[in-house]
Amino acid sequence: MSNSLIVAKFGGTSVADFPAMSRCADIVLADSAIRLIAVSASSGVTNLLVDITRQTEVAARFEAYAGIEKITLAVLEKLQQPHAVAAEIETLLADLRNLIETGGAVYSGAHKDLIQSFGERLSSVLFAQVLRERGAKASAFDVRRVLRTDSRFGKGEPQVKEIAALADVHLKPLLADQLIVTQGFIGADVTGQTTTLGRGGSDYSAALLGEALQADIVQIWTDVVGIFTTDPRLTSEARCIPEISFDEAAEMATFGAKVLHPATLIPAMRRNIRVFVGSSREPEAGGTWIAKQVEHKPAYRAIALRKSQTLITVKSPEMLHAAGFLARVFDILSRHQISVDLVTTSEISVALTLDETPGSAFNQNIEPALVELRSFCEVTVEQGLSLVAVIGNQLHSSKGVTGDLFSALEKINMRLICHGASRHNLCFLVQEEQAAKVVKDLHQRLFN
Ligand code: ADP
Ligand code: ASP
Ligand code: MG
Repeated sequence: MSNSLIVAKFGGTSVADFPAMSRCADIVLADSAIRLIAVSASSGVTNLLVDITRQTEVAARFEAYAGIEKITLAVLEKLQQPHAVAAEIETLLADLRNLIETGGAVYSGAHKDLIQSFGERLSSVLFAQVLRERGAKASAFDVRRVLRTDSRFGKGEPQVKEIAALADVHLKPLLADQLIVTQGFIGADVTGQTTTLGRGGSDYSAALLGEALQADIVQIWTDVVGIFTTDPRLTSEARCIPEISFDEAAEMATFGAKVLHPATLIPAMRRNIRVFVGSSREPEAGGTWIAKQVEHKPAYRAIALRKSQTLITVKSPEMLHAAGFLARVFDILSRHQISVDLVTTSEISVALTLDETPGSAFNQNIEPALVELRSFCEVTVEQGLSLVAVIGNQLHSSKGVTGDLFSALEKINMRLICHGASRHNLCFLVQEEQAAKVVKDLHQRLFN
């Protein structure tokens, strides 16, 4: 067995069904350094679980449940020895049915996270069996024993020190002689209540586990052959990036490149763990290496797109030359736990975009914050915007960057351009309907 340790994460499409899981098994079995595997829920399952938590009628919840059962049993039936895990799968499904029946009209945050945890719990049991049927010694491991978070349901904050200590005791010894299959996305607070890390959080789980176990490499296996110059769904001209720095990839993830959960690179950077992104469908097609040092640092690396942005403009003519205007605005937002993404200011106004990631405080807290702001300012709220971010190197000081941008987007009404604060990005808002075309045109200008 290899001395180096790789944590491999397989996303939803990679474990969507039995053939997909078999391809993942090929990848795991081809590299003896892969010893810890974190899986997502099979494709579509988490959406169905979210659907259950949103429905108020038991019958509608059971409709969503039926979809989950179908996906799960389809894998179970393809196993050589389904009986080996059938009871465990049935127990999980029965627990889920029970939560549906006894849930009342509205689920609490704790209940929502518990329900959403079933996808990963089911897929990990199934995938461990797929590996065993291929001759490997493999067990499913409940990640909630080690992945400690705070009690913020929907967006649990990982407790890094506790995770490392728990992993040392409960997980590390197991890795010595077997493959461990565990769940991405989910964790537990100090009282043992199930939490989740937010949608797409399995990438983050893999990096956190890699950090706790001091892994050499974290692999993110997905449905694209690496990180591209932009989302390949937006333009056929997008190209795979063979090598990218932590900083650039972290900016891409933050600004909406869905291929990585925004927080994935934080643990990797803390421990300097290289991250590989590749396709479980075409493992031989290569992929992207994310590392601290890279050979090439082009001015333009990629374009990311984040939809559904809200722009708030706060204006107060009385504040002309008055000190403390910005402080007052930010104080209100901070008291309402609203985190601000981008900011531009003039003497009497400030325009900002807000973090609306699911699980963030945005939806509950925005209204009371607006009421307070309106007590001394004129406030306008614009929705239906998308944020386009150009990611690269030394963008703040490179010649011609704004020229390239403006000439590519002559006919576009750009809102709130942020340039200069970061070496690695330049971003702006456009109307949602125009966003896909903007990315396409800009990509052509910057990368062709
Ligand atoms: P998984 O289920 O494996 O976690 P995701 O759907 O979360 O997969 O992420 C993969 C998707 O991310 C791709 O199918 C692609 O459409 C999208 N994506 C967005 N931006 C990029 C990018 N720059 N490079 C590659 N993929 C991207
Ligand atoms: N299953 C979770 C989701 O769909 C987490 C993940 O896939 O990363 O959001
Ligand atoms: Mg994902």
